[in-house]
Amino acid sequence: MVNRAETLQEKLFREVEQKDLFRMAQQHAFEYVDALSSRAVYPQADALDGLAAFDEALPDGTGSATEVLDLLNRHGSPATVAQTGGRYFGFVNGGALPVGLAARWLSDFWDQNAALDTMSPVSSKLEEVCESWLVTLFGLPTGTVAGFVGGSSAAILCGLAAARYRILGNRGWSINESGLDGAPRIRIVCSDQVHAAVTRAVALLGFGTRSIEWVDSDAQGRIIPSAIPTLDESAIVIVQAGNVCSGAFDGIDEVCERAQKAKAWVHIDGAFGLWAAASRQLRYLTRGLEKATSLSVDAHKTLNAPYDAGIALCTDREALKHALLASGSYVAYGNGRNGMQYTPDLSRRARAVELWAVLKYLGKDGIDQLVTGLHERAIRLKRGLEAKGFRILNDVVFNQVLVACGSATLTERTLRQVQESGECWVGGAVWQGEPVIRVSICSWATTEDDIDRSVEALASARMKAAGEAH
Ligand SMILES: *Cc1c(COP(=O)(O)O)cnc(C)c1O
Repeated sequence: MVNRAETLQEKLFREVEQKDLFRMAQQHAFEYVDALSSRAVYPQADALDGLAAFDEALPDGTGSATEVLDLLNRHGSPATVAQTGGRYFGFVNGGALPVGLAARWLSDFWDQNAALDTMSPVSSKLEEVCESWLVTLFGLPTGTVAGFVGGSSAAILCGLAAARYRILGNRGWSINESGLDGAPRIRIVCSDQVHAAVTRAVALLGFGTRSIEWVDSDAQGRIIPSAIPTLDESAIVIVQAGNVCSGAFDGIDEVCERAQKAKAWVHIDGAFGLWAAASRQLRYLTRGLEKATSLSVDAHKTLNAPYDAGIALCTDREALKHALLASGSYVAYGNGRNGMQYTPDLSRRARAVELWAVLKYLGKDGIDQLVTGLHERAIRLKRGLEAKGFRILNDVVFNQVLVACGSATLTERTLRQVQESGECWVGGAVWQGEPVIRVSICSWATTEDDIDRSVEALASARMKAAGEAH
């Protein structure tokens, strides 16, 4: 054998053949998951300090893959937020079902580009299957199209872009060719509780947030239907299935009825709440959703698919397709489903693989159990906290619990104390002018014991907070 240095390509082939790297990743992952319940939910100071290990200049030469992975594990793993464990209640961040993670591992080796049927027949097939299952699960009209995007933010953008295309098209204006300059006006109608992802989409699409016709909401954060201005065919009404703080659902049925009569477009932001439609007990919350024109939902929240799982749903397939139109001589549409036609992306990972795995694994009953279970544990938390003298500021209709102590200062200090404790992690927000502790039960892994431990953690955090020097 010629005595010369191994080329990069030879090295890469050797790594693939030997598989030490992948075995190492697997081992680290297993150690990580086994340690989840005994570690601090939020990384402690030394773990965060360890992140400084990543501050270095871009290396000059090629290194060792196992050393790269080792560095990532040694300094990366401890600095993660243990959100796949049972006591992470921040934002509305979902857990991750084992079958979804495993399907992702396998499909990561496939490294498919989901843009075109020609590029990945398997992705195209699984998108088609997921689309049809979701339409059935949510009870949407036949023909409703699904676009598989990174999250609800992108899905909302898709829904509102489709609305813009259709509303202007109905007036003889081609948004794609003529832009917004001189275009007929589009009205945006939503409540003052609308999610930041909606206002961002409104800004990105050039409507301008100042043009929003804001509608008042009630004490739970639900849009007040009687306060909605008279609608017409130039209006996009945006309602929520699940307020990001209180978990409250807008009166979807009533709003959709009014919008339908006026030929207005309705978009439902159902990022985490739309899954209530899959629970026999909670289905009443989403009544009327099939009357919406477009919807957005995340599989990485309530459904506990791994991250990167947003879904845009649109009953006006043509509007979505044309709003997101991209073409080129090399863009060869095959006979199957071409995923890029329903998202703003061209190249895209085959994210429907994990979604398919999760839906196939759970089935209707499993989804029902998962979603209903989150609600039940939210109720347990509410009762536990009330018994300890905390105030619960919202009706716990879904998975969100808003908690307050005797005073605003005490609430804020308690929040900080509990976050530092590492026992559980909850976020903060301001609700109806008052600082609150915001708890989201969003993981399959949260047990009743996790709830009880978290109640205790909040109670001792409040005791510590009360004892803090003034
Ligand atoms: C999380 C959330 C969004 C944004 O979704 P991403 O997946 O984070 O982009 C929008 N609306 C509501 C109600 C949400 O809870």
